[in-house]
Amino acid sequence: MKNIVIFGAPGSGKGTQSDKMIAKFGLEHISTGDVLRSEMKNGTELGKTAKGYIDNGQLIPDELMVSILAGVYDSFGKEHKGVIFDGFPRTIPQAEALKQMLSERGHQVSAMIELDVPEEELMKRLVLRGQQSGRSDDNEETIKKRLGVYHSQTAPLIEWYRREGIHHHIDGLGELDRIFGDISAVIEAL
Ligand code: AMP
Repeated sequence: MKNIVIFGAPGSGKGTQSDKMIAKFGLEHISTGDVLRSEMKNGTELGKTAKGYIDNGQLIPDELMVSILAGVYDSFGKEHKGVIFDGFPRTIPQAEALKQMLSERGHQVSAMIELDVPEEELMKRLVLRGQQSGRSDDNEETIKKRLGVYHSQTAPLIEWYRREGIHHHIDGLGELDRIFGDISAVIEAL
């Protein structure tokens, strides 16, 4: 079982590369952003709570995120080949909770793959995505807040996973296929 955390700032290509990883390696996929957007679309209580944070470029509280995660993970059953965690963890408490949740099931994170993309490029990609997808949080003001949150709350996870001995850095700027080749090499070596 290969559980992979695909990591990076908003706009670093986590979703795009996850799709390729699912297709090539038959992995399951949890995107916490997608889970929250679907709750918002369905107008659930969770969706209403999430909307306030998302439209403000802020993170949903850890306890709430963590409580959703185990349910989605368990929905894949026990025999899966591994799960890609996309957009989770985003804080150190979330990383600790993920480690604990997996270890309670006799599982673990096999690799954290960081897609490293310069800030200027992230901004360009997110503004473009906002024009194409109409995502309510892909506007310039909210993007700036999300990048700020990434630097202050999420980027410290790079060091956290380095200490766990499973951090892999990948240059996330350039050809999609080259980036995916680099990711594949990490997964194949696990
Ligand atoms: P994403 O699609 O991963 O960029 O997530 C969009 C938004 O959903 C984020 O800006 C957060 O407001 C919220 N969100 C997604 N994943 C998490 C998480 N793991 N912890 C807290 N908030 C999250």
